[in-house]
Amino acid sequence: MRMLFDFRCSEGHVTEHFTTKDTSEVSCLICGKAANRIISPVRSVLDPISGDFLGATRKWAKHREQQIKKERKEEYQ
Ligand SMILES: [Zn+2]
Repeated sequence: MRMLFDFRCSEGHVTEHFTTKDTSEVSCLICGKAANRIISPVRSVLDPISGDFLGATRKWAKHREQQIKKERKEEYQ
């Protein structure tokens, strides 16, 4: 079965490759160097930075805003 996996090369480029789960190394799409698969369960967790999950991003941003306001308020006390 082929799936999308993240690979990172020695230059730090992170690229997605559609490979089997047994593939641990590919050529970087950007620089052509060897890129190793990033083994992490992060993909399944909502990542507020990536923008992949817009709803979660908005929720996170709103929460962050409130947090900043709260922190500012505490500074002035
Ligand atoms: Zn690269």
